[in-house]
Amino acid sequence: MLTPKHNDSLQAVQAGLIVSHRRSLMRLMLVLATLALSGFALLNLATGRFLLGFVELLAASAIAYSLVRFRQAKKLQLWTFGLLIPLFLIISLSIVVPDATTTSFVWVMIMPVLSYLLLGRLKGFLLAAPFMVLCGFYYVFFRFEATHGLNSIIALVNPVLCGLLILVFMHVYEHSRARAYDMLIRLAATDPLTGLDNRGRFQQRLNQCIAEATRRKDSFALVLLDIDHFKRVNDTYGHDAGDEALRYLSERLLKRLRSTDIVARLGGEEFAVILKDVDASTARQLTEELRLALDESHLSYQSHDIHLTATFGVALWPQDAQLPNQLYQVADRRLYTGKHLGRNRTIDNDDVIIAADEPMTGSSAL
Ligand code: GH3
Ligand code: MG
Ligand code: MG
Repeated sequence: MLTPKHNDSLQAVQAGLIVSHRRSLMRLMLVLATLALSGFALLNLATGRFLLGFVELLAASAIAYSLVRFRQAKKLQLWTFGLLIPLFLIISLSIVVPDATTTSFVWVMIMPVLSYLLLGRLKGFLLAAPFMVLCGFYYVFFRFEATHGLNSIIALVNPVLCGLLILVFMHVYEHSRARAYDMLIRLAATDPLTGLDNRGRFQQRLNQCIAEATRRKDSFALVLLDIDHFKRVNDTYGHDAGDEALRYLSERLLKRLRSTDIVARLGGEEFAVILKDVDASTARQLTEELRLALDESHLSYQSHDIHLTATFGVALWPQDAQLPNQLYQVADRRLYTGKHLGRNRTIDNDDVIIAADEPMTGSSAL
């Protein structure tokens, strides 16, 4: 059965990973920015740079206040822009004020690091690059004191090249991180043997289907299928043959279904299919096609021809049940009715009578 646990763990991976990572980075940054700005404010005030010192003191107080408010903040990205833009303006100001120190330029290097880590590749670049270019131009044309000779060129190239390299490194780093993250999300949602959606992903998709079908006033069918006597395949031909049979079945399902339909491996030799936008008779017809296609084919494994059949239980949304778990239970019950009636069949209603001496136990709940 699909439990909320499967769903929760996947959603936690999808949504929580980046947000919690950026949130803790933001918190650390807010603390450090408060401390650093307060320190610089005091130093600048003590050395007579009153304008800069005063702006820094104001910024430090604002950031200390936002540290308290940030805990409940929901719009993380807005907060990030709200913090980084003033911070980058202060860094720029620390370069352009008339009595700025010559080394204040080094703070420009922190711009790509912060913006890429907190905003990702595109937004990070769009925020950091213009600030860096403007600060770079100002530094080169207004602050840099050219002396004669090679030393002067080296002195100019050093900060410009360093800033450019940090920007490029952050871009490449963020690109690889985003790809690794996407892969992790895909892996967390995929059954490694067949490449189909796994149980957790399937539950999400079932919920989405219900939401979509409610909006469009469509119906759809949930089909559960379980390979018949699969244990015999393993016992007779070996576990590798069993694995091959699972891959074979998943390929056959994908081949015969529309690209809008959904196929998942729920575990073991149990699969689920969602047939979108179908009524009861189309659902039955499509499911029978799947069943017959499997029954009429053979898997060639080494020198063997392995014959596979499966039993199918069909439940229609919203006629049979409206909630995902209930829909699953209906399909599961029908699947096990089919098993009791002799396997290799499709059951799409509850009118079938099972003999009283046959205990009927379904699989675990969705
Ligand atoms: P029924 O017709 O009642 O469904 O009988 P069955 O033999 O298919 O069902 P049973 O639950 O008795 O056995 C299922 C078997 O599926 C047992 C288990 O070893 C095998 N199995 C589950 N997962 C895998 C897998 O990933 N690879 C292989 N090769 N076998 C698996
Ligand atoms: Mg089975
Ligand atoms: Mg089974």
